[in-house]
Amino acid sequence: MDRAQVLVAGGGPVGLATAVELGRRGIDCLVVEPRREVSRSRPRCKTVNVRTMEHLRRWGVADRLRERAPLPVAWSQDVVFCTSLAGHELSRFHGVLGLAPEEGRCAEPGQQAPQYVLEELLRDVVGGLDACTLLTGHRVVALTQDEDGVRVEVAGDDGTSRTVLADYAVGCDGPRSVVRAQIGADYLGEHALRPNFGMVVRAPGLWPHVRHGPAVQYWTVNPVAPALMGPLDRDGMWWVIAFGVERDAGHARAGAIVDAVAGVPVDAEVLSTDPWTARMQLVDTARRGRVFLAGDAAHLNPPFGGHGLNTGIGDAVDLGWKLAAVLRGWGGPGLLASYEAERRPVQERVIRAAEDNMKTLSTDLLDDDLDRDDAAGDRARAAAHRRIQETKAAEFHALDLVLDVVHDRSPVVADGAGDRLPHAWLAPGHSLYDDLGPELTLVAPPGTDATAFTAAARERGVDLRVLHRPGSEGLLLVRPDQHVAWRGDTDADAGAVLARACGGACD
Ligand SMILES: Cc1cc2nc3c(=O)[nH]c(=O)nc-3n(C[C@H](O)[C@H](O)[C@H](O)COP(=O)(O)OP(=O)(O)OC[C@H]3O[C@@H](n4cnc5c(N)ncnc54)[C@H](O)[C@@H]3O)c2cc1C
Repeated sequence: MDRAQVLVAGGGPVGLATAVELGRRGIDCLVVEPRREVSRSRPRCKTVNVRTMEHLRRWGVADRLRERAPLPVAWSQDVVFCTSLAGHELSRFHGVLGLAPEEGRCAEPGQQAPQYVLEELLRDVVGGLDACTLLTGHRVVALTQDEDGVRVEVAGDDGTSRTVLADYAVGCDGPRSVVRAQIGADYLGEHALRPNFGMVVRAPGLWPHVRHGPAVQYWTVNPVAPALMGPLDRDGMWWVIAFGVERDAGHARAGAIVDAVAGVPVDAEVLSTDPWTARMQLVDTARRGRVFLAGDAAHLNPPFGGHGLNTGIGDAVDLGWKLAAVLRGWGGPGLLASYEAERRPVQERVIRAAEDNMKTLSTDLLDDDLDRDDAAGDRARAAAHRRIQETKAAEFHALDLVLDVVHDRSPVVADGAGDRLPHAWLAPGHSLYDDLGPELTLVAPPGTDATAFTAAARERGVDLRVLHRPGSEGLLLVRPDQHVAWRGDTDADAGAVLARACGGACD
């Protein structure tokens, strides 16, 4: 029988991120993934948000993603609303999707990158971690657990099967999660009614017709193709989402849709299609004993605003360091209990925000006069501009949603803490986050006597870095995920503070 400390079902972005968080801490981790290669046919996520980029920076790979991303941040930070790419502009947002965050607020700007670029990078990162094994061509088919571990049945696409005994298992196996079914968890929530038809097209002749300059998204408001389109690169590859289009109609009309979005006939080759319907769903429970759910396996939201994958990466980070802490002996049971207590409010908030973003799409902005070259056209476009600014700003400027995550219902966070450590630049390019330790960090004013904390940490077996920071007030205990576990002063009972942050007694 094969053994692993943690078996991760699913090597999509969330499963791979979970493995990175575990593998960097030396936890022996097996990722089981059916797809041998990362597919480029469904580049779903394009918005890698500032928080995910901060995690990539912590892992030392933010620059590698930027090097591979076909659209540099400086290339465009705009979203354009227009009747078509060659038609009238209706409205525009600048500094969208975390691409130009306010100076100092975070350690990294966001990055536009097709999901496959991120997945390919994460596969490479996992491949470089000695503790991780990525087993492609295999899928999880069943699991059972008792108090000692989880028995996971794994089937190979070559007809072989094997059993893996793991201390813990994490279901990152997406919307049709086998792990979710195996632990008897269910999605609760709704499906949207409107179908959407996604496509990847190659249209090298399109750029010269684009009247609005570079943008990361073009929302097209015309009756033939109310849609959303954006470049995958600068060489003629595009993603398109046609709103309200069923699968069959999409296949039948694909060329006509692309022409209408472009506003001129373009010689476009449809490379792949991806019909989807938005869902607002959250599992009734993300944990059963030693088995956890993360990412799309646990929650689904409409893609508007670009939150699904990023929220899943947040799950992976939260769960990854906690599982590692427990397996390395310094984390107590409260840490694992805190996973759901911390992530569920975030997931609920994201689902609500994404649902709000979906309330106004191109289909809802149609007006017969939008493309007229006369006063009626000007009036219609001015009205559309006002409506777009009123209804869509929150979708493109959502840094509060992304960064202001406070774990105030967490059992491992003290009153008045739980927030993400406020970011600061210590020198050009040198983030406060770069100086945090891999596990816990005590941030304290220079000269603070931290002996009680270092002694308590040693006793518990947890690595504690003491960071004396000029200008800091009081003491902050910062977790591996850069959230503040506790705020206080040197009078505090260091042992009690650490015990709570570490999830109570070690088992
Ligand atoms: C049109 C669209 C646009 C989007 N844009 C964005 C965006 O801009 N930003 C954003 O954050 N999110 C976006 N999303 C959401 C994003 O694509 C998902 O949230 C993300 O893929 C979730 O990652 P995951 O790893 O949880 O699941 P998945 O990507 O679904 O990965 C699950 C993995 O599990 C594997 N698997 C399946 N069954 C098994 C099994 N039995 N055993 C083992 N492995 C299994 C699969 O092969 C797959 O690799 C978008 C979604 C859509 C539809």
